Amino acid sequence: MKEIDKSKPVMVTGATGYVAEWLVKLLLDQGMTVHATVRNPMNKEKLSVLEKLAEEADGTIKFFKADLLHPHSFKEAMEGCELVYHTASPFFLDVVDPKEELVEPALRGTQNVLEQANETESVQRVVLTSSVAAIYGDNIDLKKSVTGKFTEKDWNTTSSLTHGAYMYSKILAEREAWKIYDAQDRWDLVVINPSFVMGPAIDPKHVTSESFKLIKKMGNGTFKSGLPSLACGVVDVRDVAIAHFRAGIFTGVEGRYIVSGHDASLLKMSTELIPVYGDSYPLPTKLVPKWLLWFLGPMMDKSLSRRFIRKNIGLRCIMDNTKSKDDLKMIYRPMHETMQEMFQQLIDHQLLK
Ligand code: NAP
Repeated sequence: MKEIDKSKPVMVTGATGYVAEWLVKLLLDQGMTVHATVRNPMNKEKLSVLEKLAEEADGTIKFFKADLLHPHSFKEAMEGCELVYHTASPFFLDVVDPKEELVEPALRGTQNVLEQANETESVQRVVLTSSVAAIYGDNIDLKKSVTGKFTEKDWNTTSSLTHGAYMYSKILAEREAWKIYDAQDRWDLVVINPSFVMGPAIDPKHVTSESFKLIKKMGNGTFKSGLPSLACGVVDVRDVAIAHFRAGIFTGVEGRYIVSGHDASLLKMSTELIPVYGDSYPLPTKLVPKWLLWFLGPMMDKSLSRRFIRKNIGLRCIMDNTKSKDDLKMIYRPMHETMQEMFQQLIDHQLLK
C-alpha cells in the first residue's frame, strides 16, 4: 500500500455531515488541506462551522459544490488529491420512496465518486464510509455465524427495498465500491463499517443524522413507557473519525473494518444517561414486552414491522472489532462518556424537543 503525501489536498464528500465534520477537524488539526464537498455552498451558517475549525487549526479548507446524483460533480474537488474520503450518503429511516431517497443517492454517489477517482491520476487511496448495515441485516443473522460474532467476512444478504431500505442502500453502495476497485489497479480501497454512531456533534444545531433523532426521543419522553429490546453496536463519533483518519494515512491497512466500541442496546444507551439525568428527564428505564410490541409496534412506527420484530427484538448482536484494534490501533471511548456528552450537548443547545 502506497504512503499518502500529507502535503497534498484530501477530499471529503458530505463534509457537513455529523461523522464527516469530526473527520474534517482531525485533518485540519494535522495541518492538511481539505477539499470539502457540500450540497449547498450557499448555506453559509452550516459552512461557517467548518471555516471556524480551519481558523483554529494549521490546515486549510476549500469548499466545492457536489451532488451524489450528478456525474462529474466531484471532478474539481478531487483534482490533485491522493486521498479521498467518501462519507456522503443519506442516513434517515423515515422515507416515502426508499429507492429514490436512499438507494439512488447511495449507489449512484459511490459510482460517481469512484469513477471520478479512476479519471483523476493523483488518487492513491479511497476510504469509504459503509456501515455494519452492509455486514448484517437483522440480529437473527448472528445465528448463522460460526464465531458467534459479526466479522468483516460477513455480508448482509437479507435487507431489501421493503425490509431495511437504508441497510440495503449501504450494501449496494459498498458492493459497487469493491467492484469498481477490482477493475483498476492504481488506488487502494479501505472501507469503514461503523455501528450505531453516538456522541456530540461539531454542529449540533444542523445535525440531521438519525443518531440524534433517537437520543432526542429518549430525552423528550417518547419512550417513557419503555424501549424495544433491541441490541446493537455503539461507537463514539470521534472514534469513527479517528478510524477514518488512520484508514487514510496508515500503510498496513486493508479491506473492511468494523468500527464498534460496545455491544449494547437501546436500553443500555438510556442506562448510561440515568445516573446523571434520570431525575430531570423522562428517560426510559424498562423494556416494552415483545408481545405488546408485536401488537402495537406496526401502528406506532412503520419501521417496527412484525418481520423486523421477529428477526431483531430480544436477539443478541455481537461485533468483532479486533481488526480495528489491531490495524487501526483503535482504543474505544467508554460508552457513558459518549452518551452523556451527547445528551448534555442537546440540553445546552435546547434541542430536546
Ligand atoms: P448525516 O449527518 O446525515 O450525513 C450525511 C451526509 O451525506 C451529509 O453531509 C449530506 O449532505 C450528505 N448527502 C446526502 N445526500 C446527498 C446528496 N444527494 N448529495 C450530496 N451529499 C449528500 O449522517 P452521518 O451519520 O454523518 O452519516 C455519514 C455516513 O456515515 C453515511 O455514509 C452513513 O451511512 C454512515 N454511517 C452512519 C452511522 C450512524 O449511526 N450515524 C452508522 C454507520 C454508518 P447535507 O449536509 O447537504 O445534507
